[in-house]
Amino acid sequence: MFVDSHCHLSFPELAGRIDAIRADMATAGVDKALCICTTLEEFEMVHGLARRFDNFWCSAGVHPDNEGVQEPSVDDLVALATRPRVVAIGETGLDYYRLAGRGVEDMAWQRDRFRVHIRAACATGLPLVIHTRSASADTLAILREEGAERCGGVFHCFTETMEVARAALDLGFYVSFSGILTFKNATELQEVARFVPLERCLIETDSPYLAPVPFRGKTNTPALVPHVAAKLAELKDLDVREVAEATSANFETLFKTSSKA
Ligand SMILES: [Zn+2]
Ligand SMILES: [Zn+2]
Repeated sequence: MFVDSHCHLSFPELAGRIDAIRADMATAGVDKALCICTTLEEFEMVHGLARRFDNFWCSAGVHPDNEGVQEPSVDDLVALATRPRVVAIGETGLDYYRLAGRGVEDMAWQRDRFRVHIRAACATGLPLVIHTRSASADTLAILREEGAERCGGVFHCFTETMEVARAALDLGFYVSFSGILTFKNATELQEVARFVPLERCLIETDSPYLAPVPFRGKTNTPALVPHVAAKLAELKDLDVREVAEATSANFETLFKTSSKA
């Protein structure tokens, strides 16, 4: 059985299709999913999914790309973290990919927001779901400065270099692979996936985005996460069942969902 460690089922592409998505998950052997929060405004909807279905859990956090939304305080996040079935803080991190004419020096608000999330994670003991894009040096520096090894977490939808993977592992974090791993041109990432020990790997869809081959370009759903597992198994020369078992066990070790039932 497979676990999708990162999906956005509250997004408009998927929100109206939950019953069909769940039926497809059951058919595909995907028995758990972590629903990720990207704004405080969205939290109640994401949390509603985790409350309604006993194999869904959720996170609390504000994505670094979201501007013009409610800015979370440490207290806001700590309060949400105490709600039932909330098992992670995030997604949070840094994204310098779309600076829209600004420089990195103009993104202090993103770094401040990231620190707020790390402090909330350390205060609650919940792990972090990290999003980092074109910003790995600052992401790692802030994680170290804030002592994020105390809460741990996962670098989700990993697309960084071997050196960044090594640094994430050194901090005690997990590395999560998405459908990007199946893309033909993802040769460097495939090398990273060979390198990351299986006991530190997670798999995810990041639905509705990044559908794996042979569904690339289509709307992604958690039912497609076995394609990511199959690619990881191929790269590591393992049986897909071993990858399914290990990544599911890793998910439980990190997010402790059975104690937040
Ligand atoms: Zn992300
Ligand atoms: Zn995401």
